[in-house]
Amino acid sequence: MLLELKNVSKFYYGKGTVSSGFTKVNLKLDMGEFVAITGESGSGKSTLLNVLSGLDSYEEGEMYVNGKETSGYTEKDFENYRKKYIGNIFQNFNLVNSYTVYQNIELVLLINGYKKHKIKKKILKVIDEVGLTKYKNTKVSKLSGGQKQRVAIARALIKETPIIVADEPTGNLDSKTAKSIIELLHKVSKDKLVIVVTHNYEHIEKYVTRKIVMNDGKIIEDKKIERTLKPDENLETNSIKLGDIPKAQNKKKNIGVFNKIRLGIRNTFNIKVKFLLLLAVFLFITVSAFGGYSSLKKQQYEQSNDGYNNFFRNSDERRIIIKKADNSEFNKEDYEKLKNIDNVEYIIENDLFLDRYFNVSTNNLSLYGNFNSINNLDKQITYGRMPEKDNEMVIVGNKNDYYISNTKDTILNSEWNITDNYGKSLTNEKCKIVGIAVKDGNNYNTEFYTSQNILNSIQKNINIDFSKIKIEFNDQILSSAYGGSQYRIAPNDNVPEGKAYVSRDLNSMTKKGNAIGYTVKINVKNMYFESNLDVQISKTYTKNTLKSLTGETDFDLHNGEIYINTNDYYNLFNKGNYQSSVFVKDAKIANETVKEIQNLGYKTLYIKDCLMSWDGGYGAIIQTINVLVFIVVGVVLFFISYFIIKIILKSRNVYFSTIRILGATRKNAKSLLRIELFTVLNIAFITVITLIILISNNAIKNAYIQDLITFLQIKDYIIVYILLTLVSILIANRYSKKLFKKSAMSTYRDEEV
Ligand code: ADP
Ligand code: MG
Repeated sequence: MLLELKNVSKFYYGKGTVSSGFTKVNLKLDMGEFVAITGESGSGKSTLLNVLSGLDSYEEGEMYVNGKETSGYTEKDFENYRKKYIGNIFQNFNLVNSYTVYQNIELVLLINGYKKHKIKKKILKVIDEVGLTKYKNTKVSKLSGGQKQRVAIARALIKETPIIVADEPTGNLDSKTAKSIIELLHKVSKDKLVIVVTHNYEHIEKYVTRKIVMNDGKIIEDKKIERTLKPDENLETNSIKLGDIPKAQNKKKNIGVFNKIRLGIRNTFNIKVKFLLLLAVFLFITVSAFGGYSSLKKQQYEQSNDGYNNFFRNSDERRIIIKKADNSEFNKEDYEKLKNIDNVEYIIENDLFLDRYFNVSTNNLSLYGNFNSINNLDKQITYGRMPEKDNEMVIVGNKNDYYISNTKDTILNSEWNITDNYGKSLTNEKCKIVGIAVKDGNNYNTEFYTSQNILNSIQKNINIDFSKIKIEFNDQILSSAYGGSQYRIAPNDNVPEGKAYVSRDLNSMTKKGNAIGYTVKINVKNMYFESNLDVQISKTYTKNTLKSLTGETDFDLHNGEIYINTNDYYNLFNKGNYQSSVFVKDAKIANETVKEIQNLGYKTLYIKDCLMSWDGGYGAIIQTINVLVFIVVGVVLFFISYFIIKIILKSRNVYFSTIRILGATRKNAKSLLRIELFTVLNIAFITVITLIILISNNAIKNAYIQDLITFLQIKDYIIVYILLTLVSILIANRYSKKLFKKSAMSTYRDEEV
């Protein structure tokens, strides 16, 4: 026995009410029968049919398929049952209106795992059998009711299922068309079980082998009839024999990946309005994601730049300090290698002077600041002009700096002395400030940009600050540190090379009472190198002779200084470059550049990583709040999008119930939906990326977006893409879950209201 019901009842549970669809029905149905079910409206015919075809569950009794009971069936088992056993035909056709006749029929086979190229002949043959060859490429929405029902029959036939159920297939048709549809059903019914629910028994009378009458949920009549007309014996499509069913079951597969993608993409573009609405939502999501993400990065970046370091005065976000792993001196090849890194803009070979303040003074004004090469100036001149001569320079100061804003006329017109710690000029000629550039933010460091010539003059004075100096005289250590001590070395042009002029005070430290002829041993040591110089004392000075010997006038200030030849002096300190700084083009990817430099074997210190914040940690709290706001806004956006997409997709409920009835599983529906949303997402994403490219290439002008874009790197695009993909998957999952919570039939019923 193909189908059997034993005492089966079906109830509908409403809000606090239970109504019955049918009660205690006993029924045996077999292959080869052509069954008509008639009865008043509301007598339970549709309910019975839906239970028989696995579209609705039942509450009491037992249904047997091929002799096996179905009480243990899961949702999946019923899906399989529908797939393999049932071809459905409905009163209102339940076709996919936006598909063509061919596509509607093809859909069933694709869902049931057939290969696209293998089914073409078969589909065309079925279309021919139902007499629609002329319309095979016509959209179903353009067909008449009778033609639609023919498509539905063709669709039921092509599944080659043993059972065809038709619920009032002629209910929406005029009586002439109705007749031809019944004829068609009959024609194709050889070796099948066909169950037709109808109001108009007279239409069907001469074809049936059995008549069942229902009333108030019960079968009140069930009689076999000798049929007067036989179905078409020559049709091949209905060649299923009962014995074949179990084998056929195992063979049928699920929809293939390519067909899934094909259908998903077909569905994406099928209904233009729906596509455009979805695209608008996804464009909105994509733009919001990029906007939010880049703003967050911008805030983070700006906050991380805003800080200071007491040791490294130059806290430029582009600066990476480097030294060699073995503390040795940098050579040309080192700089070549470093310059070859993509993101490297320029290298300051003697990095130490970047962090050294020099005094720049006129008669009445004294400024302190760092020096840099004019070639590295990255700001516009606000007042004055760019340097034209070697001794000209530009000053860069904070917009709110008192001197920059109030004394700019004095600054621009005077001649300036660049001096060492003792007020001694470091350059041969005086310098002139010809331009002023202002900067924003919290950085109040004053900077001077000037020619390489001037830089060379002042650079020789650099390593002194970073070195320890030991002076040994007559086996005694005079001083162990530079500055603050009475005895210290100083450069003087009057002293011959290899000689020293010392204070007469040193005489008392010798046995003879005379220091002349003694040797002064000088040892210079810093973290990179050590150098030694022995000089012989050739003269001693007193308060009276200081000026004639050295040119210095202030004896109290200078007494105790050990004057040595200027070249000797600088040779002690200028031993090449041991610490350099790389300045990058794009500070936003400086961390990657740091890694590249490390991979070349150098030690690095990225200045931005060692800044103290001005705000004492307050910014970190703001940053955390920003991230939280970003997440909350993201979640809210997700739900808004989900809600809108749900409304847009509501029109798709019928589609999904249709493919479900045709045998698609929940998984199939989910992946079709995912593919559809994913396709729209990709189109939106590509559109936005194209816009971003146009804006960043200045084809479209928007300074604000242009600025934001600079904060996005490839990896950020990937992150946003993954995020959006997850969102679309999540939406598809949520939606299909809701869709499948209800049975396929109740989805239909809801739509019909
Ligand atoms: P028919 O197809 O013979 O007109 P139905 O099978 O549609 O009758 O309905 C049988 C009974 O079940 C009716 O009393 C109807 O009110 C009830 N019924 C049908 N569908 C539902 C439903 N979704 N919810 C509640 N009651 C229903
Ligand atoms: Mg009905």
